[in-house]
Amino acid sequence: MAAECEVDVPSGPCGVAAIGRCSTCGRAFCVSHQAAAANPGHVVVDRCVTCLAAKKQAALTHDRQFGRGYITSGDARAELLARGVPKVELHKVSRELERRRFGGSRTVETVHPMGTGWLIGTFRWEYTEFSFGARDVVAEHPTVLRDHQTRDERQIFLRVRKDPDRHGYLVESGRRVASSWELLAEAVRRLARR
Ligand SMILES: [Zn+2]
Ligand SMILES: [Zn+2]
Repeated sequence: MAAECEVDVPSGPCGVAAIGRCSTCGRAFCVSHQAAAANPGHVVVDRCVTCLAAKKQAALTHDRQFGRGYITSGDARAELLARGVPKVELHKVSRELERRRFGGSRTVETVHPMGTGWLIGTFRWEYTEFSFGARDVVAEHPTVLRDHQTRDERQIFLRVRKDPDRHGYLVESGRRVASSWELLAEAVRRLARR
């Protein structure tokens, strides 16, 4: 007797003629309960739909707890706020040359507040440095997680340095943090739970 699909549907096991067996749970599956792969038209040969769904869910849960999802969902920020982890003040400084009435000029600095955030440690950044020409740099820098929910992932972390002239931290241009989401999430979790 040919095997019948053992994948559960609301009324019990599916019962349609099986075409294979799931390598994860060992149940027989039919054509419609064979797991589909991410690329359209392809199927995962040896897994049932239930086990594929469980695997995807587990990956999502893991990401939400330990990876990108922990940061982008706002969970990280909420946890830091709830635990009252101290924040630092952030700002940028722009300089303009101001002409003086009787000749000469002087540099005028303007401080632009950039909100607050949590100093989470030193991480790798990729950016272009403009001094004596443009130069691509990969270097470790103090990094801040902003206390500012944003959909733009490049705005979540900021490269900063201590401002010798003022209270707080200077935000430097340099938009791409190159450390992995897992490393960043781990640092934030450590900070929140210590
Ligand atoms: Zn299975
Ligand atoms: Zn079936």
